[in-house]
Amino acid sequence: MKNFGLNIWSNNNFIIEDGHIKLNYKSMPSLLEITEEIRQNNIKGPILLRFPHLIKKQIRTLYSYFDKAIQNNNYKGNFQAVFPLKVNQFPNAVEAVTSQGKQYNYGLEAGSKAELILAMSETPTGANITVNGFKDKEMLTLGFIAAQSGHNITITIEGLNELETIIEVASECDLKVPNIGIRVRLHSAGSGIWAKSGGMDAKFGLTSTEIIEAIALLKDAKLLDKLSMIHFHIGSQMSDIAPLKRALREAGNIYAELKMMGADALRSINIGGGLAVEYDQHVMSSARNYSIDEFSSSVVFLLGEIMNAKGVDHPDIFTESGRFIVASHAVLITPVLELFSQDYQEKLLNFKEINPPLIEELIELNTLLNNTNCIEYLHDALDHMESILTLFDLGYIDLQDRSNAEILVHNIIKKALYLKSANPTDELEQLQTKLQERYLINASIFQSLPDYWGLDQNFPVMPLHHLNTTPLRAASLWDITCDSDGEIGFNPERPLYLHDVNLDEEDYFLGFFNVGAYQETLGMNHNLFTHPSEYTISITESGYEIKNAIESKNILDILESIGYDKNEILNKLKSDLSKSDFITEKEKDDTLAKLEEFVKQNGYLRTTN
Ligand SMILES: *Cc1c(COP(=O)(O)O)cnc(C)c1O
Repeated sequence: MKNFGLNIWSNNNFIIEDGHIKLNYKSMPSLLEITEEIRQNNIKGPILLRFPHLIKKQIRTLYSYFDKAIQNNNYKGNFQAVFPLKVNQFPNAVEAVTSQGKQYNYGLEAGSKAELILAMSETPTGANITVNGFKDKEMLTLGFIAAQSGHNITITIEGLNELETIIEVASECDLKVPNIGIRVRLHSAGSGIWAKSGGMDAKFGLTSTEIIEAIALLKDAKLLDKLSMIHFHIGSQMSDIAPLKRALREAGNIYAELKMMGADALRSINIGGGLAVEYDQHVMSSARNYSIDEFSSSVVFLLGEIMNAKGVDHPDIFTESGRFIVASHAVLITPVLELFSQDYQEKLLNFKEINPPLIEELIELNTLLNNTNCIEYLHDALDHMESILTLFDLGYIDLQDRSNAEILVHNIIKKALYLKSANPTDELEQLQTKLQERYLINASIFQSLPDYWGLDQNFPVMPLHHLNTTPLRAASLWDITCDSDGEIGFNPERPLYLHDVNLDEEDYFLGFFNVGAYQETLGMNHNLFTHPSEYTISITESGYEIKNAIESKNILDILESIGYDKNEILNKLKSDLSKSDFITEKEKDDTLAKLEEFVKQNGYLRTTN
């Protein structure tokens, strides 16, 4: 576990060199040097780093595999993709997608009014906009406004009522009518923990009877020439490819049938998102049973086969992959504030002139422990500890002796673990779990890793440095919220081991990876911890640039964002302090200045790290 499963989850985006984790790109900076540079400007708390080149890599991968499959299968349609905004609406993430996707004319997908407004303002001209989700008349009218403003927009209807409203709007105004898509309700369902989007009981989509009715309505309204797309989405983080293939067969046949029914303008099939990301640190490919190669070939091959059989032209293929495109671009970096069992340090031993015999024996075991005797000595030490605790309960030894014994036994176990780290016995592994170190991280799990809290989704985590020494401390991670759910416990099935560091002497940073999808807007302000400070890092041949800095909200702004008047709060605090007694005017002024400074900092901890 020295490499923290890097070969499993990192997709070669990072490498370990000289004990540091580095970007595996151009000048190959280490995450630690970037972090330290940012923190030089008195930035405290967690930071989120965005790497646009990793978005580009994903976009390029997606396009190149589809292009290859199109060539290999002699497929006549083309491939296009849009980015679903719900996966990450933050300005610097969206900017990274649109700028890195420029050469592919990468578009955006919207699922709500606010996202549609965002798509209308951020989609480069000529790129596609697709719209999904439930819509009212206003949202559908916005679609007309987008079409009128020159956007290449397709509104996917989720039900017949939406189509009726589109027809109504079209008859009431002269605005350009957007392209229309139909989301089909598939009888085949998806797989994975998010698979609630497919199947007959799904939340979205038209049944076959409704689709036939939709065609009639469109014909009546003379809008059949606007029906351009068939859409489905079988759920996120698809673990198995079989349900996708079933969905493709179903949707492909619906497409071909509609073409044969006279839907001449129909030209694309939108297969939604769902491409999975590897989050696992321990077992290869547990998250998905297919590669991007298999995924793209299957889609292209199946659609080609269905259309050939029915004598229908090959449709263009659209995807709306979100997680796959942006998960890897963001890394959350958190300083460790404290290690809770640091009190068991050897320097805190405080022996007496004459120690009880059992303590003397522990001292000797601790000194003489070596590779050959360590299991035997460990057993002796554990026995002694039991006896010492009994003696303490009976009042025969004092608290100082007990403290010395605890430190010595901890040390002996640690040494034994170290000596046997290559092949630990079951007993040692269990001891390790019991000796778990709690690493307090300056971050909020609710804010930055909400899917861990809500769905038990693991994210790869590892230290940024010390990577040339084997980590030996079974670790659980505690965040700084006052909520006992703000903890990533030690799980012996997916053990996390971290280093023993002396935080008085050096910083220790942890990186959480693949956090670029869904976590940011799902993140909540529990305990009023807000979005971490964020930075876009663009890596060049000779170094890197830190851009688009947005510092985590300051305390007054956090309070304002939930409805308080920040001036009222500050004035109240200042006037209470001004009216107080028993300090000099000088101290009062200094304290007022301090107060003012504190409320203008972000809400994460500052004193230690
Ligand atoms: C959420 C969603 C997506 C994105 O799914 P990913 O698993 O992130 O790729 C795509 N299309 C629709 C309609 C969605 O609702």
